[in-house]
Amino acid sequence: MEVVNLPAVSRVAVCGGTHGNELSGVYLVRELQKKKKGGADDVSVTMVISNPRAVQQCRRYVETDLNRCFTAATLSAPVSDKTPYEMVRAQELNALLGPKGADEAADLLCDLHNTTSNMGLCIFSPVACDWVCMQIYRHLQREMPSWPVKYLSFERPAAEAFSLDSVGKHGLTIEIGPQPHGVVRADIFNAMKEGVRLMLDWIQKFNSGQRFLSPSPRRSSVPDVLRKDCDVQRDRASVSRFRERVCILREGHRSLSGPKENSGRSIHPGEKRLKGREGGRAEWGQGMPRGGVGTTKDANG
Ligand SMILES: [Zn+2]
Repeated sequence: MEVVNLPAVSRVAVCGGTHGNELSGVYLVRELQKKKKGGADDVSVTMVISNPRAVQQCRRYVETDLNRCFTAATLSAPVSDKTPYEMVRAQELNALLGPKGADEAADLLCDLHNTTSNMGLCIFSPVACDWVCMQIYRHLQREMPSWPVKYLSFERPAAEAFSLDSVGKHGLTIEIGPQPHGVVRADIFNAMKEGVRLMLDWIQKFNSGQRFLSPSPRRSSVPDVLRKDCDVQRDRASVSRFRERVCILREGHRSLSGPKENSGRSIHPGEKRLKGREGGRAEWGQGMPRGGVGTTKDANG
């Protein structure tokens, strides 16, 4: 068995209201802000309402979709009086929680969303093969047996990732449904609250030095639904791409039944470099095993 060492996750950001009419995250962030304590003592947790104007108006966004404003190009674009509010806000969030790609960025950024689709709980990762996100996914899948817990990651360079979660060194979106926009369902809210609690619980275990086997999600955890509240459904080409991504995900899950040597890795906090199965070394994010988790080139909401 080979060991992969990763740095501790010490600074966590939990964001809600990136889409202002998805209220579970808004209410959860406000609740955590009141408690002023979101996790273990050795973990700093920052809670943020991402798009306060959209939340105030209970709209997805005011001028443009905030969750499409976090590419390297948009974050470095000059700002004028005519710049849409969300693009300005994206740069503010990048200064607060990033900068994206820098050592100062949050170790983990968790962005909270809802969907009107009957999807259960889905974890999106903005980049492929993020071991921390996959481990958190596995932890939630184990500990929330009454909820379908799924995982999707995206195959694109970090600089091109446009979602808020890409600002953190590790990033994930927790999206839960079904919930109509502009309302809070108790069961959906409680599931999101439990998901965030379990995420912080896993981080505490990880930081304590506990070792984890490489992720191997169950084959059954495949989303079969098209989300109805997402921009990707507004034209046929996008819907086609979304279907493609579901197919890609299924391909990924088929690989789960592959050779057992894929499940022999363990990771724990320490250094940043990774050791490959064949004895080679790779930087974080390069040449990492898929672990059977689905990947995609398309967008999330
Ligand atoms: Zn959303």
